[in-house]
Amino acid sequence: MVATGAPEKKYISKFPMMGTIVSLTLFEKNPDVVNDVNDYLVKMDAVFSANRDDSELSKVNQAAGLHPVTVSRSCYELVADALTYTNRFADSFNVLIGPLVKTWKIGFGGRQVPDDSQIDRALKLIEPGKVTLNPQDHTIFLRDRGMQLDLGAIAKGYFADRIIERLKNAGIRNAIINLGGNVQVLGDNPFSNDLYWNIGIRDPEREDGSSAAIVHTKAQTFVTSGIRERYFKANGHVYHHILSPATGYPVNNDIIQVTIITANSELAEVLSTVCFFHGVAGGKAIIEKTPGVEAIFINQQNQLIHTSGLIKISKGVYLNE
Ligand code: ADP
Ligand code: MG
Repeated sequence: MVATGAPEKKYISKFPMMGTIVSLTLFEKNPDVVNDVNDYLVKMDAVFSANRDDSELSKVNQAAGLHPVTVSRSCYELVADALTYTNRFADSFNVLIGPLVKTWKIGFGGRQVPDDSQIDRALKLIEPGKVTLNPQDHTIFLRDRGMQLDLGAIAKGYFADRIIERLKNAGIRNAIINLGGNVQVLGDNPFSNDLYWNIGIRDPEREDGSSAAIVHTKAQTFVTSGIRERYFKANGHVYHHILSPATGYPVNNDIIQVTIITANSELAEVLSTVCFFHGVAGGKAIIEKTPGVEAIFINQQNQLIHTSGLIKISKGVYLNE
Protein backbone atom coordinates (compact mmCIF):
# COMPACT_ATOMS: atom_id res chain seq x y z
CA MET A 1 0.00 0.00 0.00
CA VAL A 2 2.89 2.35 0.74
CA ALA A 3 5.98 2.82 -1.44
CA THR A 4 9.02 1.22 0.14
CA GLY A 5 12.67 2.17 -0.05
CA ALA A 6 12.29 5.54 1.67
CA PRO A 7 14.20 6.08 4.91
CA GLU A 8 11.05 6.68 6.97
CA LYS A 9 9.71 3.97 9.21
CA LYS A 10 6.18 2.82 9.75
CA TYR A 11 4.63 1.36 12.89
CA ILE A 12 1.80 -1.09 12.36
CA SER A 13 -0.52 -2.18 15.20
CA LYS A 14 -3.20 -4.84 14.84
CA PHE A 15 -6.31 -5.25 16.94
CA PRO A 16 -8.82 -8.10 16.58
CA MET A 17 -12.38 -6.77 16.67
CA MET A 18 -15.85 -8.09 15.81
CA GLY A 19 -14.55 -10.90 13.65
CA THR A 20 -12.05 -8.81 11.66
CA ILE A 21 -8.58 -7.40 12.13
CA VAL A 22 -8.21 -3.66 12.52
CA SER A 23 -4.80 -2.33 11.62
CA LEU A 24 -3.36 1.10 12.35
CA THR A 25 -0.27 2.38 10.56
CA LEU A 26 1.57 5.33 12.07
CA PHE A 27 4.75 6.98 10.83
CA GLU A 28 6.06 7.76 14.26
CA LYS A 29 6.40 5.73 17.43
CA ASN A 30 3.44 6.71 19.59
CA PRO A 31 2.31 4.11 22.15
CA ASP A 32 -0.21 6.52 23.72
CA VAL A 33 -2.09 6.85 20.45
CA VAL A 34 -1.96 3.09 19.84
CA ASN A 35 -3.38 2.49 23.34
CA ASP A 36 -6.08 5.09 22.81
CA VAL A 37 -7.22 3.41 19.57
CA ASN A 38 -7.13 0.02 21.28
CA ASP A 39 -9.22 1.32 24.21
CA TYR A 40 -11.69 2.88 21.81
CA LEU A 41 -12.12 -0.36 19.86
CA VAL A 42 -12.55 -2.41 23.06
CA LYS A 43 -15.23 0.05 24.16
CA MET A 44 -17.01 -0.10 20.79
CA ASP A 45 -16.94 -3.90 20.85
CA ALA A 46 -18.76 -3.83 24.19
CA VAL A 47 -21.35 -1.45 22.74
CA PHE A 48 -21.92 -2.93 19.29
CA SER A 49 -20.83 -6.55 19.15
CA ALA A 50 -23.52 -8.77 17.70
CA ASN A 51 -21.74 -11.78 19.23
CA ARG A 52 -22.24 -10.62 22.80
CA ASP A 53 -25.60 -10.84 24.58
CA ASP A 54 -24.60 -8.01 26.88
CA SER A 55 -23.71 -5.42 24.20
CA GLU A 56 -25.96 -2.36 24.02
CA LEU A 57 -26.98 -3.37 20.52
CA SER A 58 -28.00 -6.86 21.69
CA LYS A 59 -29.98 -5.33 24.57
CA VAL A 60 -31.90 -3.09 22.16
CA ASN A 61 -32.66 -6.11 19.97
CA GLN A 62 -33.66 -8.29 22.95
CA ALA A 63 -36.05 -5.55 24.14
CA ALA A 64 -37.83 -5.33 20.77
CA GLY A 65 -41.59 -5.19 21.33
CA LEU A 66 -41.06 -4.83 25.08
CA HIS A 67 -39.47 -1.55 26.14
CA PRO A 68 -37.03 1.24 25.17
CA VAL A 69 -33.36 0.81 26.11
CA THR A 70 -31.08 3.63 27.23
CA VAL A 71 -27.82 3.54 25.26
CA SER A 72 -24.50 5.40 25.17
CA ARG A 73 -23.91 8.44 23.00
CA SER A 74 -21.98 6.39 20.41
CA CYS A 75 -24.74 3.82 20.09
CA TYR A 76 -27.45 6.46 19.81
CA GLU A 77 -25.46 8.43 17.26
CA LEU A 78 -24.66 5.49 14.98
CA VAL A 79 -28.20 4.10 15.08
CA ALA A 80 -29.64 7.57 14.40
CA ASP A 81 -27.26 8.00 11.42
CA ALA A 82 -28.15 4.54 10.13
CA LEU A 83 -31.88 5.30 10.35
CA THR A 84 -31.42 8.58 8.50
CA TYR A 85 -29.66 6.69 5.69
CA THR A 86 -32.36 4.01 5.79
CA ASN A 87 -35.01 6.66 5.20
CA ARG A 88 -32.93 8.32 2.46
CA PHE A 89 -32.22 5.06 0.61
CA ALA A 90 -35.43 3.24 1.50
CA ASP A 91 -35.26 0.80 -1.43
CA SER A 92 -31.77 -0.47 -0.63
CA PHE A 93 -30.02 0.35 2.65
CA ASN A 94 -31.98 -0.80 5.68
CA VAL A 95 -30.50 -0.96 9.19
CA LEU A 96 -33.44 -3.13 10.34
CA ILE A 97 -32.43 -5.92 7.94
CA GLY A 98 -31.48 -8.11 10.97
CA PRO A 99 -34.41 -10.58 10.83
CA LEU A 100 -33.73 -11.21 7.13
CA VAL A 101 -29.99 -11.66 7.73
CA LYS A 102 -30.78 -14.17 10.50
CA THR A 103 -33.20 -16.02 8.21
CA TRP A 104 -30.60 -16.51 5.45
CA LYS A 105 -27.55 -16.90 7.76
CA ILE A 106 -25.28 -16.26 4.75
CA GLY A 107 -21.68 -16.54 5.86
CA PHE A 108 -22.88 -18.11 9.11
CA GLY A 109 -23.72 -21.64 8.02
CA GLY A 110 -26.76 -20.84 5.82
CA ARG A 111 -26.88 -23.34 2.96
CA GLN A 112 -30.43 -23.22 1.63
CA VAL A 113 -32.99 -20.74 0.40
CA PRO A 114 -35.52 -20.02 3.18
CA ASP A 115 -39.24 -20.75 2.63
CA ASP A 116 -41.39 -17.89 1.30
CA SER A 117 -43.23 -17.84 4.62
CA GLN A 118 -39.97 -17.27 6.52
CA ILE A 119 -38.99 -14.46 4.16
CA ASP A 120 -42.44 -12.85 4.42
CA ARG A 121 -42.26 -12.97 8.20
CA ALA A 122 -38.82 -11.30 8.18
CA LEU A 123 -39.93 -8.62 5.68
CA LYS A 124 -42.70 -7.54 8.08
CA LEU A 125 -40.08 -6.79 10.73
CA ILE A 126 -37.88 -4.36 8.79
CA GLU A 127 -40.05 -1.23 8.72
CA PRO A 128 -37.99 1.82 9.71
CA GLY A 129 -41.17 3.62 10.86
CA LYS A 130 -41.37 1.18 13.75
CA VAL A 131 -38.33 2.53 15.56
CA THR A 132 -38.68 5.19 18.25
CA LEU A 133 -35.58 7.24 19.02
CA ASN A 134 -35.62 9.62 21.93
CA PRO A 135 -32.78 12.15 21.64
CA GLN A 136 -33.37 13.59 25.14
CA ASP A 137 -32.76 10.45 27.13
CA HIS A 138 -30.88 8.46 24.42
CA THR A 139 -33.33 5.60 24.22
CA ILE A 140 -34.00 3.28 21.30
CA PHE A 141 -37.20 1.28 21.03
CA LEU A 142 -37.93 -1.30 18.34
CA ARG A 143 -41.69 -1.47 18.68
CA ASP A 144 -42.40 -4.96 17.31
CA ARG A 145 -41.21 -8.21 18.83
CA GLY A 146 -38.56 -9.80 16.58
CA MET A 147 -37.21 -6.57 15.07
CA GLN A 148 -33.41 -6.36 14.99
CA LEU A 149 -30.89 -3.68 14.14
CA ASP A 150 -27.96 -4.87 11.98
CA LEU A 151 -25.14 -2.35 11.68
CA GLY A 152 -22.96 -4.62 9.52
CA ALA A 153 -23.08 -2.31 6.51
CA ILE A 154 -22.24 0.93 8.37
CA ALA A 155 -20.44 0.39 11.69
CA LYS A 156 -16.90 0.02 10.34
CA GLY A 157 -17.25 3.34 8.53
CA TYR A 158 -18.44 5.06 11.70
CA PHE A 159 -15.47 3.63 13.65
CA ALA A 160 -13.01 4.69 10.95
CA ASP A 161 -14.30 8.28 11.05
CA ARG A 162 -14.13 8.41 14.86
CA ILE A 163 -10.59 6.96 14.89
CA ILE A 164 -9.42 9.54 12.35
CA GLU A 165 -10.86 12.27 14.62
CA ARG A 166 -9.02 10.83 17.61
CA LEU A 167 -5.76 10.67 15.66
CA LYS A 168 -6.13 14.27 14.53
CA ASN A 169 -6.89 15.40 18.09
CA ALA A 170 -3.74 13.64 19.25
CA GLY A 171 -1.70 15.64 16.73
CA ILE A 172 -1.09 12.75 14.31
CA ARG A 173 -0.58 14.08 10.80
CA ASN A 174 -0.32 10.92 8.68
CA ALA A 175 -1.86 7.51 9.28
CA ILE A 176 -3.68 4.60 7.72
CA ILE A 177 -6.55 2.84 9.43
CA ASN A 178 -7.77 -0.41 7.91
CA LEU A 179 -10.89 -2.07 9.32
CA GLY A 180 -11.17 -5.43 7.62
CA GLY A 181 -10.51 -3.97 4.16
CA ASN A 182 -12.19 -0.59 4.70
CA VAL A 183 -9.27 1.81 4.47
CA GLN A 184 -9.05 5.44 5.51
CA VAL A 185 -5.89 7.48 5.21
CA LEU A 186 -5.06 10.68 7.07
CA GLY A 187 -2.82 13.44 5.74
CA ASP A 188 0.04 12.96 3.30
CA ASN A 189 2.01 9.85 2.41
CA PRO A 190 5.43 10.61 3.90
CA PHE A 191 7.02 7.92 1.72
CA SER A 192 6.01 9.40 -1.60
CA ASN A 193 7.52 12.39 -3.41
CA ASP A 194 4.17 13.84 -4.39
CA LEU A 195 2.72 12.94 -0.95
CA TYR A 196 -0.09 10.87 -2.55
CA TRP A 197 -1.04 7.39 -1.39
CA ASN A 198 -1.35 4.22 -3.45
CA ILE A 199 -4.38 2.23 -2.41
CA GLY A 200 -5.08 -1.22 -3.80
CA ILE A 201 -8.59 -2.27 -4.81
CA ARG A 202 -8.93 -5.96 -4.04
CA ASP A 203 -9.40 -8.46 -6.82
CA PRO A 204 -12.75 -10.19 -6.19
CA GLU A 205 -11.59 -13.25 -8.13
CA ARG A 206 -8.56 -13.89 -5.93
CA GLU A 207 -8.25 -14.79 -2.31
CA ASP A 208 -4.58 -13.97 -1.88
CA GLY A 209 -5.32 -10.28 -1.30
CA SER A 210 -3.91 -9.18 -4.65
CA SER A 211 -5.19 -6.00 -6.26
CA ALA A 212 -7.40 -5.55 -9.31
CA ALA A 213 -6.42 -1.87 -9.42
CA ILE A 214 -4.31 0.77 -7.72
CA VAL A 215 -5.51 4.31 -7.03
CA HIS A 216 -2.96 7.06 -6.60
CA THR A 217 -4.82 9.41 -4.28
CA LYS A 218 -4.96 12.24 -1.79
CA ALA A 219 -6.21 11.31 1.71
CA GLN A 220 -9.58 9.59 1.34
CA THR A 221 -11.50 6.58 2.53
CA PHE A 222 -11.78 3.47 0.35
CA VAL A 223 -14.73 1.24 1.16
CA THR A 224 -15.40 -1.91 -0.81
CA SER A 225 -18.48 -4.13 -0.81
CA GLY A 226 -18.43 -7.36 -2.72
CA ILE A 227 -20.41 -10.53 -3.13
CA ARG A 228 -17.58 -13.01 -3.56
CA GLU A 229 -16.76 -13.39 0.11
CA ARG A 230 -19.91 -14.44 1.88
CA TYR A 231 -22.27 -16.58 -0.15
CA PHE A 232 -23.57 -20.07 -0.77
CA LYS A 233 -24.55 -21.88 -3.93
CA ALA A 234 -27.82 -23.78 -4.35
CA ASN A 235 -29.82 -24.87 -7.42
CA GLY A 236 -27.22 -23.32 -9.72
CA HIS A 237 -27.58 -19.88 -8.08
CA VAL A 238 -25.21 -17.83 -5.97
CA TYR A 239 -26.85 -16.35 -2.88
CA HIS A 240 -24.76 -13.63 -1.25
CA HIS A 241 -25.01 -11.42 1.83
CA ILE A 242 -26.42 -8.13 0.50
CA LEU A 243 -30.15 -8.58 0.85
CA SER A 244 -32.94 -6.59 -0.73
CA PRO A 245 -35.37 -5.05 1.78
CA ALA A 246 -37.96 -5.15 -1.02
CA THR A 247 -37.80 -8.79 -2.13
CA GLY A 248 -36.05 -10.42 0.83
CA TYR A 249 -33.55 -12.03 -1.58
CA PRO A 250 -29.90 -11.22 -2.35
CA VAL A 251 -29.80 -8.39 -4.87
CA ASN A 252 -28.85 -9.54 -8.36
CA ASN A 253 -27.38 -7.52 -11.19
CA ASP A 254 -24.11 -6.99 -13.07
CA ILE A 255 -22.06 -5.72 -10.07
CA ILE A 256 -19.73 -8.05 -8.21
CA GLN A 257 -17.77 -5.41 -6.34
CA VAL A 258 -17.88 -1.68 -5.76
CA THR A 259 -15.37 0.62 -4.08
CA ILE A 260 -16.46 4.05 -2.89
CA ILE A 261 -13.82 6.76 -2.55
CA THR A 262 -14.63 9.88 -0.53
CA ALA A 263 -13.83 11.74 2.70
CA ASN A 264 -16.40 10.26 5.07
CA SER A 265 -16.14 6.54 5.72
CA GLU A 266 -19.65 6.10 7.12
CA LEU A 267 -21.18 7.62 3.98
CA ALA A 268 -18.86 5.47 1.85
CA GLU A 269 -20.08 2.33 3.61
CA VAL A 270 -23.71 3.20 2.99
CA LEU A 271 -23.11 4.14 -0.66
CA SER A 272 -21.21 0.90 -1.27
CA THR A 273 -24.29 -1.07 -0.24
CA VAL A 274 -26.71 1.28 -2.03
CA CYS A 275 -24.81 0.98 -5.33
CA PHE A 276 -25.33 -2.75 -5.31
CA PHE A 277 -29.03 -2.22 -5.85
CA HIS A 278 -28.69 -0.19 -9.01
CA GLY A 279 -26.26 -2.15 -11.17
CA VAL A 280 -23.09 -0.64 -12.65
CA ALA A 281 -24.82 2.01 -14.79
CA GLY A 282 -27.33 3.03 -12.11
CA GLY A 283 -24.74 2.98 -9.34
CA LYS A 284 -22.37 5.08 -11.41
CA ALA A 285 -25.14 7.61 -12.09
CA ILE A 286 -25.83 7.93 -8.34
CA ILE A 287 -22.15 8.51 -7.55
CA GLU A 288 -21.70 11.01 -10.41
CA LYS A 289 -24.52 13.05 -8.85
CA THR A 290 -22.97 12.96 -5.37
CA PRO A 291 -20.32 15.68 -4.92
CA GLY A 292 -16.94 14.59 -3.59
CA VAL A 293 -17.53 10.90 -4.19
CA GLU A 294 -15.90 8.58 -6.76
CA ALA A 295 -16.32 4.85 -7.36
CA ILE A 296 -14.82 1.88 -9.13
CA PHE A 297 -17.16 -0.94 -10.09
CA ILE A 298 -16.23 -4.45 -11.14
CA ASN A 299 -18.84 -6.21 -13.25
CA GLN A 300 -19.62 -9.88 -13.85
CA GLN A 301 -17.17 -9.89 -16.79
CA ASN A 302 -14.45 -8.62 -14.44
CA GLN A 303 -14.29 -5.25 -16.17
CA LEU A 304 -13.48 -2.13 -14.17
CA ILE A 305 -15.76 0.88 -14.60
CA HIS A 306 -14.90 4.17 -12.89
CA THR A 307 -16.62 7.50 -12.28
CA SER A 308 -15.54 10.62 -14.17
CA GLY A 309 -13.52 12.20 -11.33
CA LEU A 310 -10.94 9.41 -11.54
CA ILE A 311 -8.31 9.55 -14.26
CA LYS A 312 -7.20 6.28 -15.78
CA ILE A 313 -3.41 6.34 -16.13
CA SER A 314 -2.95 2.83 -17.47
CA LYS A 315 -4.61 -0.56 -17.14
CA GLY A 316 -5.66 -0.88 -13.49
CA VAL A 317 -4.00 2.37 -12.40
CA TYR A 318 -6.07 5.45 -11.55
CA LEU A 319 -5.41 8.93 -10.24
CA ASN A 320 -7.75 10.59 -7.75
CA GLU A 321 -6.78 14.26 -7.52
P1 ADP B 1 -19.22 -6.03 3.51
O1 ADP B 1 -19.56 -7.10 4.50
O2 ADP B 1 -18.46 -6.53 2.33
O3 ADP B 1 -18.66 -4.79 4.14
P2 ADP B 1 -21.59 -4.51 3.25
O4 ADP B 1 -20.89 -3.31 3.76
O5 ADP B 1 -22.46 -4.33 2.08
O6 ADP B 1 -20.57 -5.62 2.84
O7 ADP B 1 -22.37 -5.11 4.48
C1 ADP B 1 -23.07 -6.30 4.36
C2 ADP B 1 -23.71 -6.60 5.70
O8 ADP B 1 -24.69 -5.62 5.98
C3 ADP B 1 -24.44 -7.93 5.70
O9 ADP B 1 -23.62 -8.95 6.18
C4 ADP B 1 -25.61 -7.66 6.62
O10 ADP B 1 -25.21 -7.79 7.98
C5 ADP B 1 -25.92 -6.23 6.35
N1 ADP B 1 -26.86 -6.03 5.22
C6 ADP B 1 -27.23 -6.89 4.24
N2 ADP B 1 -28.09 -6.32 3.39
C7 ADP B 1 -28.27 -5.04 3.84
C8 ADP B 1 -29.05 -3.94 3.40
N3 ADP B 1 -29.84 -4.02 2.32
N4 ADP B 1 -28.99 -2.80 4.12
C9 ADP B 1 -28.21 -2.68 5.20
N5 ADP B 1 -27.46 -3.68 5.69
C10 ADP B 1 -27.46 -4.84 5.01
MG1 MG C 1 -19.16 -2.55 4.03
